[in-house]
Amino acid sequence: MNEVLERESGYFSSQFGGAPDGLWSAPGRVNLIGEHTDYNEGFAFPIAIDKRTTVAARVRADRLLRVTSSSFPGVIEVSLDHLDPDALTGWAAYPLGVAWAMSRAAAGGAGSAAGSGVPSRLSGLDLALTSDVPAGAGLSSSAAVECAVALALNDLWDLGLGRPELARIGQLAENRVVGAPTGIMDQSASLLGEPDHGILLDCQNLTTEAVALGFAGAGVGLLVIDTRTSHSHADGGYASRRRSCEDGARRLGVGSLRALGPADLPRAAAQLDGQTYRRVRHIITENQRVLDTVTALRTSGAATIGRFLNESHLSMRDDFEISTPELDLAVASAQEMGAIGARMTGGGFGGAAIALVRNDDAAAVAAGVARDFARAGYTAPHIFPVTASEGARREL
Ligand code: ADP
Ligand code: MG
Repeated sequence: MNEVLERESGYFSSQFGGAPDGLWSAPGRVNLIGEHTDYNEGFAFPIAIDKRTTVAARVRADRLLRVTSSSFPGVIEVSLDHLDPDALTGWAAYPLGVAWAMSRAAAGGAGSAAGSGVPSRLSGLDLALTSDVPAGAGLSSSAAVECAVALALNDLWDLGLGRPELARIGQLAENRVVGAPTGIMDQSASLLGEPDHGILLDCQNLTTEAVALGFAGAGVGLLVIDTRTSHSHADGGYASRRRSCEDGARRLGVGSLRALGPADLPRAAAQLDGQTYRRVRHIITENQRVLDTVTALRTSGAATIGRFLNESHLSMRDDFEISTPELDLAVASAQEMGAIGARMTGGGFGGAAIALVRNDDAAAVAAGVARDFARAGYTAPHIFPVTASEGARREL
């Protein structure tokens, strides 16, 4: 057993006694490009990263769910017979929200009402979480929890659900139980990621395609610059962007903004108020940039995708207005220090930026960003490399 798994098993024993039945893990993700496009049925291109959340789990003889996390104090308990999505709060809403959504799937999609309707064949579980995915940094620690737990429950409850369905279950837990109106991107990346590949996600028909990144061959890599400024998806900013997009689509007579392309921009400009137009323009141009990035990776290589990252950042800063001074500085500073391209990543309003850098420049870019943050009087950022890694898996 490697060190991480030993620590995780040890954590389980310290909380619940004895050994777990198994260990499952799921990674966080960074989105290379394609931001806020998922809930507009557009394209996104995330990678699963080499930071993971692990869940150790053991079947119980009764109907009790007990969950604990090394990131939070206490053990949260709830009976499967009283699993009410409206009563789950705090961090436990993520793992227990998944349990609720899984039990609903096990019941054939029905039975969301109080009284639970959770099938009697499902057993209680002890679940212990550990993680090295930083929470709230835009690297989707939430999806890492959801996907690790979903995979564990799928095995232990013997549900036989496929990964696309597990992704929807994670999203349902986050939307319905946590109350964050997020799209399907994070869970898809965490479940479907592959080493050295990005996952091209078509959020209209939910098809995915692994696209080779070729970073190692091109001598480039990704740096994450976590600004350590907080964001909250559940908050107004994300929801209001989502509403603007829905409003724009309705006023332009389409079911979702996916139906529109660059040729529709003049009509959109004529029909929409200035702010809604800019929101719509971000989505339309961002979808195109995702496709352009994938084409560039396939034809001219990783060193040629920088301009799409840079343009994506400007679009988020100026049109979608989800960036922050810290994220703008991280991007500008990385670019000045020779990054091939840089952009904020994730939902916005804080969190992390990414920079695509030549391996030879990585140290200088990191040092330059740290220096500029110090000069600006900002909290020192966490800067670290990430590599595209395998999606959720059973470890033991
Ligand atoms: P992000 O997904 O970008 O990290 P979110 O706000 O979506 O940020 O999710 C962060 C929340 O997910 C945390 O506040 C916590 O409630 C939950 N979470 C993340 N990691 C863990 C963990 N290891 N254990 C328990 N809860 C976690
Ligand atoms: Mg999240």
